[in-house]
Amino acid sequence: RMMDDTLMDIEEAKAELSLRPTLLHQYIGQKKLKNNLDIFIQAAKLRNEALDHVLLYGPPGLGKTTLANIIANELDVNIRTTSGPSIERPGDLAAILSSLNAGDVLFIDEIHRLSRVVEEILYPAMEDFCLDIVVGKGDEARSIRIDLPPFTLVGATTRAGNLSAPLRDRFGVHLRLDYYDDHDLMEIITRTAAVFDVEIDAESAAEIAGRSRGTPRIANRLLRRVRDFAQVNGEARIEAGTTTESLDMLQVDKHGLDHIDHKIMINIIERYNGGPVGLDTIAVSVGEERVTIEDVYEPFLIQKGFLERTTRGRQATPLAYAHFNYPYSNEKRK
Ligand code: ADP
Repeated sequence: RMMDDTLMDIEEAKAELSLRPTLLHQYIGQKKLKNNLDIFIQAAKLRNEALDHVLLYGPPGLGKTTLANIIANELDVNIRTTSGPSIERPGDLAAILSSLNAGDVLFIDEIHRLSRVVEEILYPAMEDFCLDIVVGKGDEARSIRIDLPPFTLVGATTRAGNLSAPLRDRFGVHLRLDYYDDHDLMEIITRTAAVFDVEIDAESAAEIAGRSRGTPRIANRLLRRVRDFAQVNGEARIEAGTTTESLDMLQVDKHGLDHIDHKIMINIIERYNGGPVGLDTIAVSVGEERVTIEDVYEPFLIQKGFLERTTRGRQATPLAYAHFNYPYSNEKRK
């Protein structure tokens, strides 16, 4: 399972911690986003105010968590990290909020997975920096208002469309992360190799970049695997031959497509005559979760021009037919 973001292992989680750039200028790529963020951060510092709430969205592994930490670092404040699914009750969120210091960053990953009741605690907190809490029961119940220090909420989500409108509207800054180009990925791979204290030639860095589906997390993961192969082969330096060989063994093709991508596309082409076919049907036929397909596989297949989203479902493109070696004819289409 190369791509499944939810199955990050402990080794990977540890590696990620040490690989994270800590300052904005060390963050590679996403130039427009970086320039904007830099200005917002500087302005907030000049005014001596908390930065406006920031919503980060984009596919997994593109650097949202990294950015949240950079924001706190650049503002020189503390960061508190939590995630949508781990905040179960309104009281849990209230406790976190009231423990913040002025200017702090609260990072909520997977913010689209907050429950409705928890989300409602956030509205006044984000808007007026206060908590509305009901104390007592029955006839005794009354609402009290608790002031909070000004803070910055940084929310991360895979798709901005997943968020309820009232929550989305309360973020002053919306930043979308895009897939990285090969040039940026090469830079990330070279940087990671330096952190690992291993040498890599440019050809290998390019080869890994090309197969990383525009995603730094995958680039770093592939680099670690290739490093394993080189090490076991007793090679002091990562070179092209070993790189290509090990990536082929990992079943990642030249486009960065893995066996699940292949399964998705071949299923659509063979079983559903190229589509359109619904996402749930695809999920069942390849044995993956719908959300994984929607968040991880589909955006990249669309980006590559292999898949189209239509009102009636997903459809394989002529390019996909060519890539997966199937004859494409228009008559076949109903
Ligand atoms: P997300 O939160 O979007 O899933 P992360 O912030 O956890 O992604 O990033 C995944 C990995 O990729 C981390 O190890 C991080 O160091 C690396 N990474 C992400 N973006 C960049 C970048 N712009 N420059 C360097 N490394 C990056």
